[in-house]
Amino acid sequence: MEGKKKTNETHILVIPFPIQGHINPMVQFAKRLASKGLRVTLIATTSISKTMQAPTSSVKIETISDGFEEGEKIESTDIYLERFRVGVSQSLVDLIEKQKGYAHPPKVLVYDAFMPWALDVAQRQGLHGAAFFTQSCAVCAVYYHVHQGALKIPIQDPTTSLPSMPLLGIDDMPSFVCDTASYPSLLNLVLIQFSNFQKANWLLFNTFDKLEEEVVKWMASQWPIKTIGPTVPSMYLDKRVDDDKDYGFNLFKPNVDACMEWLGTKEIGSVVYVSFGSMASLGDEQMEELAWGLKRSNSHFLWVVRESEGIKLPNNFTDETLDKGLVVTWCPQLDVLAHKAVGCFMTHSGWNSTLEALSLGVPMVVMPQWTDQKTNAKFVIDVWQVGVRVKVDEKGIVRKEEIELCIREVMEGERGTEIKKNAARWKELAREAVDEGGSSDKNIEEFVANLVGT
Ligand code: UDP
Repeated sequence: MEGKKKTNETHILVIPFPIQGHINPMVQFAKRLASKGLRVTLIATTSISKTMQAPTSSVKIETISDGFEEGEKIESTDIYLERFRVGVSQSLVDLIEKQKGYAHPPKVLVYDAFMPWALDVAQRQGLHGAAFFTQSCAVCAVYYHVHQGALKIPIQDPTTSLPSMPLLGIDDMPSFVCDTASYPSLLNLVLIQFSNFQKANWLLFNTFDKLEEEVVKWMASQWPIKTIGPTVPSMYLDKRVDDDKDYGFNLFKPNVDACMEWLGTKEIGSVVYVSFGSMASLGDEQMEELAWGLKRSNSHFLWVVRESEGIKLPNNFTDETLDKGLVVTWCPQLDVLAHKAVGCFMTHSGWNSTLEALSLGVPMVVMPQWTDQKTNAKFVIDVWQVGVRVKVDEKGIVRKEEIELCIREVMEGERGTEIKKNAARWKELAREAVDEGGSSDKNIEEFVANLVGT
């Protein structure tokens, strides 16, 4: 009773970086901490605060300014990131100062590792800091080796050998460390995660021990890391009904009813769900090949084409595929992946999408685009063996015949049977990790006990 009361008196702040793939896991983690009895405040910077769909009952939301005027145009990523750092640092100080007067002032800031400066703010204010890494351990390890100078970039060698990792071909590497010229500010963003991480009191990773066994062991031998994933809400893993169901902060408005009603009319395992996440953008030619590849596959498909991408759809495509497909601008992805009609996920292999598919036992066709996606794809195919990867031609395009072939292989082929078996096993292992007493659950319990003791 006394312990429970102490937990309830322990106040923790959680601040995500404002992009969808970072918001989702941190919101879910905040909710999980609240379910362990902590008093949790999620800090929403201005741009994301407006997108909140349904406030969670268990987590309090505080909005702070990110330092930008409404509708302000920012000239470059560098300028955005620097102004975001300055604006949010100041707002964070103001918020913490205000909350020092509360009955339960915050003790700890869980911050997105893309914002290492938040640790300095927290520690100057007398709070502890926990870095939350939103990418896989393997990808973080690559960036760590680059940051330490142990891995020279741009990577040009056909293969790279790193501690406790499978041999990585050039096409398995995060794009930023191969093509260092195209996105210098994003390369810097992923590397500065390691600028002060050793000063953080905790290092949290959205993965689970069995999933990245070797590299997790290697990291744990260097620093006291804690795996806490998958952050997929337990109701999806256990099929438990949960009254705390919401879609968190959606930067895009999901077509919930249209998707769920349409899926409800389809047979078990008959639908290919297609999405490239919140940022990837396919070229016109690639989009066209994908569209006709989906049509040729002869499966039903639910395809998320964000509003900004819609213009690239072939003119007559939706009319020609009315009986087969549904194109939406955003969907409730977890509900879609958990739906029994979905038999395969054609994905860009963003880390959240990958973890969500693994946790819900959905086989994948992977079509990685940039950032960490090629490394995730390597693990999907070679390590977890839960999917097939499309091949690109000499022009860098995946042709419609290849798309058809890969979908058929997963949906109908012999290999598909094996892949489905593996996917079911990973689903089980993911659930075990977050179930009471599982590796991630134990780590979260330990984290909470440490916090309460601070
Ligand atoms: N997502 C969603 N609806 C969609 C597409 C994506 O809710 O129509 C969610 C998905 O469940 C995941 C996140 O958006 O949690 C995308 O993150 P990911 O790391 O896969 O890709 P990113 O957007 O960062 O490239």
